[in-house]
Amino acid sequence: MACASTALIVGGGIAGLSAAVALARVGVQCDVVELADASGGASLALSGRATEALDELGVYDACHARSTPFAAGTTASHQRDAQGRLISEGPQRPQWPGAKTPLGIHRPVLLEILEEAAQRLGAKVYRGVTTQTTVEDDDGVSVAMTDGHHGRYDFVVAADGIGSRTRSRVFPEAPKPSYAGQFSFRWMLSGPPIDGEGWYIGPEGRLGFYHLPQDLIYVPAVIDLPEGAWLTDKDTLAHFARLLDSYTAPAVVELRRRLTPDADLIARPFEWILLAAPWHRGRTLLIGDAAHATTAHMGMGGGMAIEDAVVLAQCVATTTTPAQAFDAFMERRYTRVATVVETSVAMSRLEQEGAPTSRNMALASDAFKALAQPY
Ligand SMILES: Cc1cc2nc3c(=O)[nH]c(=O)nc-3n(C[C@H](O)[C@H](O)[C@H](O)COP(=O)(O)OP(=O)(O)OC[C@H]3O[C@@H](n4cnc5c(N)ncnc54)[C@H](O)[C@@H]3O)c2cc1C
Repeated sequence: MACASTALIVGGGIAGLSAAVALARVGVQCDVVELADASGGASLALSGRATEALDELGVYDACHARSTPFAAGTTASHQRDAQGRLISEGPQRPQWPGAKTPLGIHRPVLLEILEEAAQRLGAKVYRGVTTQTTVEDDDGVSVAMTDGHHGRYDFVVAADGIGSRTRSRVFPEAPKPSYAGQFSFRWMLSGPPIDGEGWYIGPEGRLGFYHLPQDLIYVPAVIDLPEGAWLTDKDTLAHFARLLDSYTAPAVVELRRRLTPDADLIARPFEWILLAAPWHRGRTLLIGDAAHATTAHMGMGGGMAIEDAVVLAQCVATTTTPAQAFDAFMERRYTRVATVVETSVAMSRLEQEGAPTSRNMALASDAFKALAQPY
């Protein structure tokens, strides 16, 4: 029997909704409070053991059906130069022996699948709501929500992302996230497919693209910008257009042709944080980006959030108190997640120093070997 019967989850993103599914599957009644009324965002790739974690949540097949599977040999991880000449091919053999096929999935689709699974298992998701006051005693946590309802829980899972307010409240001494020196740009567009999927590396920055179901194309890009840069929508479009203009590769020229002033572009600074262990205090545990956020160089932050959720539920199911469950969770998560945070930040640094891409690939390959172990 699980060591707890009720949990409040603050944040209904990848970590929070995965935790709701995982905990509900081991018999914990979960409430999720999520500030946003609806989920948005671009695409993300889920690879390695994260696909197994999705399977453990019972949602891998549903995700597979609505995503782009990246089998070994996919052109989506080829790298080309600004003229479109091939620099390197992606892995030709599965990088993660025994793992399920990696997926590229539109974030709102993933969140919809997770939310439906959580609700099917009895979790309640309150949108447009957060916590107002939280009072902890020896037996549990009493929480008042901003919509006026109250709840009593055995423990609280803070999955409220890199800007976590719960982290500021529970760990006031924790450092703020650090800027990594680069901005990410993400563009979702719809239209007919373009030949030449993969990454392009040029003097102004790096960009890539891959196709998603329903004629969607996802274009992520990375540009070095000084600390404190703040971009209006107009600046974002100008930076992005300048980046595309610096390429003569036919696929990028075609993307540039399709870029319109009302393009669905998201720009945000790459920030990172690795909270010192343990990520719990009293009856509150931080998971996902709230505890460990990083740059997207390895594309594994979301995967780590899903793994966190699965491991938490395993620990809750096999211990006798939340405190024991949290300790067991930390034992299994810290080193693994630190590998992702530190390797990603190191890759960002090397990229800014203009190091050859082979150095980044070697760093990533070492990290992937470690991460191929079970979570
Ligand atoms: C450019 C970019 C590309 C990426 N690509 C990939 C990729 O390809 N693969 C991958 O695995 N990862 C990728 N990541 C990382 C991934 O997006 C994150 O690691 C993941 O979203 C973390 O999930 P989370 O649920 O912890 O946090 P979030 O996704 O930030 O979700 C937090 C949720 O909490 C809610 N919230 C915030 N504050 C409160 C509050 N006070 N009360 C209630 N709710 C609150 C938010 O609205 C949000 O829904 C990428 C990240 C970036 C920036």
